[in-house]
Amino acid sequence: MIMLDKGTFIISIDTELAWGTFDHGGHKKYKEAYEKYRFIISQVLKLFEKYDIPATWAIVGHLFLDSCHREDGVIHPDIVRPRHQWFGADWFSLDPVTDISSDQIWYGSDIVKMIKEAYPKQEIASHSFCHPVFSDKGCSKETAESDIAKCVRLALNEGIELRSFIFPRNLPGHLDILSKYGFKVFRGQGDRYCPLKLPQVIKKMYFLLDDMVATTPPTVLPKAASNNGLIEVPASMLFRFAYGKSRIIAEGMRFRKAKKGIDAAIKRRRIFHLWFHPISFAWKMNLMLAELDAILQYASEKKKDGLLEIATLKEDAGCFMMQGARTTNLTLRQSVCIITEAQYSKKITLMACPSTIPAPLSSAERR
Ligand SMILES: [Zn+2]
Repeated sequence: MIMLDKGTFIISIDTELAWGTFDHGGHKKYKEAYEKYRFIISQVLKLFEKYDIPATWAIVGHLFLDSCHREDGVIHPDIVRPRHQWFGADWFSLDPVTDISSDQIWYGSDIVKMIKEAYPKQEIASHSFCHPVFSDKGCSKETAESDIAKCVRLALNEGIELRSFIFPRNLPGHLDILSKYGFKVFRGQGDRYCPLKLPQVIKKMYFLLDDMVATTPPTVLPKAASNNGLIEVPASMLFRFAYGKSRIIAEGMRFRKAKKGIDAAIKRRRIFHLWFHPISFAWKMNLMLAELDAILQYASEKKKDGLLEIATLKEDAGCFMMQGARTTNLTLRQSVCIITEAQYSKKITLMACPSTIPAPLSSAERR
């Protein structure tokens, strides 16, 4: 059985602004919340600095832009359009095609800068360019490849080599393309499940109840996702917002649940993987920030005690273990054992990119 050298805490953050919800009208419904996004990110980064926490920020590629333009009348002609059945119009039909000063919920170059310059160093990962659902038949291979290629090129333009990927709606697909473009690790869905066969709406209530009473969340281990070398690090717990039905979750319960996750990771020498969206802090902001503060403080204390590693997705199991597997010709499982026996906590420089990674974009291409 695979066992890490010590428990590990990972935080991954889906950073998407209006791109995360526009296909269901969220750009209107959550407009006020999105307008708090930058302040929220600044507050979360302050907490990360306070407790010396590196996290993984998966950023939608369109947020690397501060403006965009039509080319021969077409918005982003280099992107093969997703054709999701729930969104009949052109996928970019709501893209304002303006700039960051006019439409701040669609562009985010200042957000990328803020995260890039944060201390301690944060990992910038990808959350796709335009948030298509990779698992859906409406996202063809051509769509996925054009989307990912653009993300990689925009990031390289900022000197960032993308290694971690978080799928829109957390629904994996087209892993071969991720691998082709140099990604090493992605967040999996996790093994949280409802033990009973129930309709989706009832399951949602079950999960809400589960969070209300703060049961111990699952701890996870990295695993080989397929034969293309990608590593999956499943999620453990969503830091749930205080909106809609979720308002019912009592103050302190998010911390209580996460604390149980950290304790379980330490005890079992596994990973506790917390994730959230910045917009989740838009409601009851002070309470939510206080809950995150308490989680980070607890994790930081455990780290000081030598009981817990705190790592980004890239630093952690994914790339780390795959490097061992590739360079030693061992199976992933064998390499995991060897690496963990050696020095799991030591950070390893990642392997060079494969040759398929395109050159950075020219200024004209960036639009
Ligand atoms: Zn655009």
